[in-house]
Amino acid sequence: MESQSILERLGILADAAKYDASCASSGTSSRNSLGSKGIGSTEGMGICHAYAPDGRCISLLKILLTNHCVFDCHYCINRKSSNVRRARFTPQEVADLTLSFYRRNYIEGLFLSSGIVKSSNRTMEQLIEAARILREEHDFRGYIHLKTIPEADPELVHQAGLYADRVSINVELPTDSGLTRLAPDKNARQIEDAMGRTKDDIAEASDAKRKFRHAPRFAPAGQSTQMIVGADAATDADIVGKASRLYGSFGLRRVYYSAFSPIPDASAVLPLKRPPLIREHRLYQSDWLMRFYGYKPAEVMEAAGADGMLPLDIDPKLAWALKFRDRFPLDVNRAAREDLLRVPGLGVGAVDRILAARRHRTLRLDDVARLTQSIAKVRPFLCTVDWRPTTLTDRADLRALLAPKQEQLELFAA
Ligand code: SF4
Repeated sequence: MESQSILERLGILADAAKYDASCASSGTSSRNSLGSKGIGSTEGMGICHAYAPDGRCISLLKILLTNHCVFDCHYCINRKSSNVRRARFTPQEVADLTLSFYRRNYIEGLFLSSGIVKSSNRTMEQLIEAARILREEHDFRGYIHLKTIPEADPELVHQAGLYADRVSINVELPTDSGLTRLAPDKNARQIEDAMGRTKDDIAEASDAKRKFRHAPRFAPAGQSTQMIVGADAATDADIVGKASRLYGSFGLRRVYYSAFSPIPDASAVLPLKRPPLIREHRLYQSDWLMRFYGYKPAEVMEAAGADGMLPLDIDPKLAWALKFRDRFPLDVNRAAREDLLRVPGLGVGAVDRILAARRHRTLRLDDVARLTQSIAKVRPFLCTVDWRPTTLTDRADLRALLAPKQEQLELFAA
């Protein structure tokens, strides 16, 4: 390993980190070094942002400290028994790389995770040290997301939150039985305990910050987690249920879903095929429905089939509306905001534009068309002064009419 150049190690450890979806730089406090000493900013001026369609942020330096690992999670390319090339950075090297990428304006911050070397505590100490060097020695004010290790000492996990904008602990699998089978060294209880302590630390720090201006920050962008989709038999209903419980119990900012991808030398207990990527996309859409559209988890699951799986050909909001056609059409001039949010094709922005516009005049179908992106999609579910879809919502082929064409699905399947 000594003979590997920094560039070679960067290639290995950036590639090894790509399986982790749980990075996004949204939601942290605004901070920059303008007019003060120090370096960095979380505001992103002059920094190139790139987001994948599911919201993954790709403008962070996203690396592992090391891909050596003493654990043997079956789904992970870095597991102990995997035959991959290994590499390791020192905390100082991670800090130097972050600063040099930052100065070149390639990134807006750092996403740092790691395989477990020697012990969970030892690994956690190294992750913290990289963040400490950046924050204390270089006054780095850019974004830092640290992956924490639930098996590590709680005091170490706490220290990570003092340096990081966001911390995350991956629940990995949607069910405890899946975790036991595929990640035998991990423990669902330990993971949730660590999330619970982090939630308390975040709440305490934000309380203190309200009272004392100089109170230490603790993960101001909150905590997030990731679930792997399709590596075990968990259904979409299991996944939606788990996500909703995590949001409710631990105040998570985000749950990320990552479609399992088969890895070289895969363990025999894993499926041979990856799940369709569109499944991951549908889960993100259902997550969106719960967080921004007022759907309860049980309602999202009403959109699923008897097998607990969301349809792949249409989005969960449309699937729900087609199942509950008796709730439509809605009068666009009178319906409540929470009902309008249930109309397929109406996003939060469009609903707010409709509410603002109807304060001044009675809306016609043309008005709605101007305020929305797809009048064809919303038309069967709405009525206006000049439009009433008398039989449209009853048509047996409505689903086929509204489902995106196959070519469009390919966009997501790429
Ligand atoms: S702990 Fe498991 S998931 Fe994490 S790097 Fe090691 S083998 Fe991979």
